[in-house]
Amino acid sequence: MSLLEVDDLAIHFGGVKAVDGISFAVEPGEVFAIIGPNGAGKSTIFNLISRIYEPTRGRIRFDGQDITRLRAHDIARLGIARTFQNIELFDHSTVLANLLMGRHSHRATNVVQDILFLPKVRREERAHRRKVEEVIEFLELEAYRGKMIAGLPYGVRKVVEIGRALAIGPRLILLDEPASGLSVEETQDMAFWIEDMRREMGLTVLMVEHDMSLVTQVCDRVLAVANGRPLALGTPAEVQGHPDVQAAYLGT
Ligand code: ADP
Ligand code: MG
Repeated sequence: MSLLEVDDLAIHFGGVKAVDGISFAVEPGEVFAIIGPNGAGKSTIFNLISRIYEPTRGRIRFDGQDITRLRAHDIARLGIARTFQNIELFDHSTVLANLLMGRHSHRATNVVQDILFLPKVRREERAHRRKVEEVIEFLELEAYRGKMIAGLPYGVRKVVEIGRALAIGPRLILLDEPASGLSVEETQDMAFWIEDMRREMGLTVLMVEHDMSLVTQVCDRVLAVANGRPLALGTPAEVQGHPDVQAAYLGT
């Protein structure tokens, strides 16, 4: 069974058909990319899956469960984490604090228990810290843990953004342009992390990316979209060689 199934997904903003009939399925352990020109609807697909937007039409299933009408925090709790194309961190908090906040959706205790600081809360707090430490080690963020986000180079903030998503311990991670704005060397590190998310963490990865060399290196399959519509689906080589994909990129 597919981990994520998207069926005839659509959202219209007034007259703009931002996403209009997108279907695909991501298998467990797969690294799957959505590519397409600017404005194609890629980030909107992520906003629909993570339920920031409500679809006009279509259905989304995760692990066999219909999640189309769930709320955003329920989607996170089921194990779908995401990053944002424009990094969304708390600039005046530390790396550690941002990663701990990423786990907020996973809290099982309530405010009264917090105040009383019951054993259950302490146990949960330890679990949060253990997971966050694991993420810090995985992404090699040790040197930055106590640093304020605002003072960090862009490439490091980009990694922390991914750490915030990993900290919830997801099964599926949505990465919106993980390599945008990164140097060649930083992009190579990103490629290794994405490969290790699958290999070491057992994650399934759905990403939007412009850097075709990264897509070719790490992705099993690719869906190309333009104007909210599907163009081609297949291996990176098949999709890149598809005449409709080439036409969309050349604007012909
Ligand atoms: P991509 O990520 O592929 O570059 P987007 O998904 O961000 O593209 O945008 C696709 C289209 O949907 C664009 O034309 C964009 O202007 C439009 N769009 C996205 N979100 C909204 C919104 N909240 N209101 C109106 N139009 C939107
Ligand atoms: Mg986008």
